[in-house]
Amino acid sequence: MPELPEVEAVCRKLRPAAVGRRIESASVIRCGGLGIEEAVPGRSIEAVDRVGKHILIRLSGAVTLHTHLRMSGNLFAIPDHRLRGHRARVVLCLRGGTGIVLEDPRALARMELVETAAIDARLRRQLGPEPLSPLFTPAWLGTEARSSRQPAKLFLMDQGRVAGLGNIYVAEALHRARVNPRRPVNRMSPARILSLHGAIVAILEDAVQSAISAYAGPGEFVEAETFPLAVYGREGEPCGACGRTIRRIVQGGRSTYYCPGCQK
Ligand SMILES: [Zn+2]
Repeated sequence: MPELPEVEAVCRKLRPAAVGRRIESASVIRCGGLGIEEAVPGRSIEAVDRVGKHILIRLSGAVTLHTHLRMSGNLFAIPDHRLRGHRARVVLCLRGGTGIVLEDPRALARMELVETAAIDARLRRQLGPEPLSPLFTPAWLGTEARSSRQPAKLFLMDQGRVAGLGNIYVAEALHRARVNPRRPVNRMSPARILSLHGAIVAILEDAVQSAISAYAGPGEFVEAETFPLAVYGREGEPCGACGRTIRRIVQGGRSTYYCPGCQK
């Protein structure tokens, strides 16, 4: 399942092939996408933005193709739009003959045409700041943390607090910042908050670089297995930092991995 770093990698790969191009035609094959075929021809792609795991392809005329890869989707440019694979759900044919493909073997990925102002307002209501954006600062994190008694793990998984941080990266960030996943966030010191903020940004940037290099080619979607994980999925193994045995507990119905030596 694509996590935030993979979605960011998708956007960074797509931008050079997409931004500034004009869409000549579109085909939608089993993915919702009402109105796309009729409404997008003649529009230009102005930007490719990301908020959490939502991809926002900004078009001229104040509309956006709101895209979500869900479990198994992928979005990428191809040199010739006729080379679409049989798993293509949406194909945007660009001036010059290139194409952008939303592909998904399971047909769960979604692309919908929405008004730019409406989708931006909706995502702002639903999601906290994007962790790789300038809005995500240590001061902001400290203020949010003081207003919550949630355990650190559940606080960071709450999409209304921080957008798009998944189970893997929360576990890794808490380990790097040496924060116990059960610690209530309103009882964390400013120094701990600062180190947690730094760990989240550093882990995500590392994971984005790893996801970018894991892309063998268009459509070759490799998940973040190549990213070296310190605790996630390593129950019973020794911690690389202190040697204590990594534990697994369940919080909010999902596994949390942590080191009882490093994360007190
Ligand atoms: Zn440890």
